[in-house]
Amino acid sequence: MTHSIGFIGLGNMGGPMAANLVKAGHRVIGYDLSAEARDLAAAQGVMIAVSAAEAVGEADVVLTMLPTGRHVLDSYGELTEAATGALFIDCSTIAVGDARVAADLARTAGHRAVDAPVSGGVPGAEAASLTFMVGADEADFAEAEPLLAAMGRRVVHCGSSGAGQAAKICNNMILGVSMIAVSEAFVLGESLGLSHQALFEVASTASGQCWALTSNCPVPGPVPGSPANRDYAGGFAAALMAKDLGLAAAAAAACDVPAELGGRASELYAAFAEGAGAGLDFSAIITTLRKDTA
Ligand code: NAD
Repeated sequence: MTHSIGFIGLGNMGGPMAANLVKAGHRVIGYDLSAEARDLAAAQGVMIAVSAAEAVGEADVVLTMLPTGRHVLDSYGELTEAATGALFIDCSTIAVGDARVAADLARTAGHRAVDAPVSGGVPGAEAASLTFMVGADEADFAEAEPLLAAMGRRVVHCGSSGAGQAAKICNNMILGVSMIAVSEAFVLGESLGLSHQALFEVASTASGQCWALTSNCPVPGPVPGSPANRDYAGGFAAALMAKDLGLAAAAAAACDVPAELGGRASELYAAFAEGAGAGLDFSAIITTLRKDTA
């Protein structure tokens, strides 16, 4: 089925995602505050509206890919132009509580709501290989799934509103903590005279195996494609990891869950992203964990 999609937020992620919806044959009308983002999306076949309200005016699906929960809640408050019954899909990473408020706002205005945050980063957005974690009721999920499948490789129904965001922050809490654990192990190995390659060969096929080690290895050498081999350029920005861990830590506090390592990882990444780590892949945290830099 072909949809008319109002797409708000055509940034690093939203731009290529909107382009993939165009490739799948949908009519996509986009809007972004940034002229550069609008121009890049237009070059990919996205029609550009003069305002968010105009972008959603004829839409039966409204998709948002915005920086924070504040942006999403503000937008949802303003998108009253959308036709009654439109399917609102928010793919931004925001707090579980904000996702539930956004869904309530949409439903109160006569629409339907889905939270569908992603993992896979900009390369995944460009290659339409993202993983979507979805919070929605069965009927809305069934309608959203083929659209999300046009932008990704996996679409997982995690539960009702907010469950997609819950899965996203829990997954990224595992990732943030495991990257620090892998980094500390390499640093300890260095002090014990153990080569990076030897530790990698053992841990990557033993019980220390994890994505942080085998795909995004924080030291250069063992995994040629990991950002460590290019001075930590590109990859998953430390600032985004800090953001996601902050959301996880706030959720843990709200639920009275201790999550001590998640909380500590959140502190370390927040400090790193504000300082040396600004603009670097999150695996560069290892550079702050050695004796002379700690
Ligand atoms: P980005 O900053 O590149 O894009 C966000 C866009 O939203 C910008 O172009 C900005 O101009 C636009 N915008 C802000 N307010 C607006 C408004 N009111 N109306 C219209 N446009 C508005 O960010 P991004 O990297 O594309 O990330 C978007 C979301 O995806 C974030 O929630 C982020 O946490 C999440 N995410 C990002 C990645 C990644 O690797 N970049 C991976 C997974 C999830």
